[in-house]
Amino acid sequence: MNENLFSPKAGGAAAAPKHDRTAWLKGGDATCLMPPRKPPGQVWRIIMLGAPGVGKGTQADLLSERLGCCHLSTGDVFRSARCSGAARLSPAMQDAVNHMHRGELVPDTTVLDLVRERQRCLHCAGGFLLDGFPRTVAQAEALEKLLAEEKVQLDVVLNYELPLAQVIARIAGRRTCSECKAVYHLAKHAPQIAGRCDACGGELFQRDDDRPEFIMVRMQAYEESSRPLIDFYQQRGRLVTISAEGAPEEIYQRTQALALAR
Ligand code: AMP
Repeated sequence: MNENLFSPKAGGAAAAPKHDRTAWLKGGDATCLMPPRKPPGQVWRIIMLGAPGVGKGTQADLLSERLGCCHLSTGDVFRSARCSGAARLSPAMQDAVNHMHRGELVPDTTVLDLVRERQRCLHCAGGFLLDGFPRTVAQAEALEKLLAEEKVQLDVVLNYELPLAQVIARIAGRRTCSECKAVYHLAKHAPQIAGRCDACGGELFQRDDDRPEFIMVRMQAYEESSRPLIDFYQQRGRLVTISAEGAPEEIYQRTQALALAR
């Protein structure tokens, strides 16, 4: 089945058209029924970095809607695989899902196989927004090689930063709709009826890896792997660091001014 083309934006806001990401989520021969079209302006090829909970998902929605690029999230591929049921998962994917469930990073070889299997998405007419990949220097080096082989030029690496206490507060309060995947926050964007999605009435749940016992594991994994990654892209002159404090629109405008206004 193709991904819901009209799923609500993060935060449960009014439904907005969303590109089909079937080719990315499923891999193999799967194709998108409604792929992004070439935008009238620049075709953007972007990498997003940022600890879990800095609001990358919300920025990814805004960026992909406004720039027309496809949101390529490795975390979404693993979550989507998990939903397809254990019986249909390859041993490597089952192992990846187990790592994710514990809040640990999936081994590089599994992630790289998964990306290579989807490398045609790097040629998407709308451009791309890589979210959650690369997460280690080994992944970044492999991606650099892949992009060179495919003759695809990376435009910018957006590095979103937020103080740790704010990251933890954001993750611990996050709830997701089991039906339409709209994202809420218990303190900042609570649903009108507790535990129910405003948009579709679906049940809200807390992602396993957002549970308090796993947040610190994820943060530690991010800290250990992200510093060298940040240096990697800084040395290549591609990195733009952006504060993720404030409302989503404020952060978007900051991104626009610092990284996209050319
Ligand atoms: P995310 O939605 O990006 O926070 O990813 C959710 C989980 O998927 C992570 O906590 C990891 O377990 C796994 N994951 C996603 N992308 C990667 C990656 N590039 N390398 C290793 N693990 C990943």
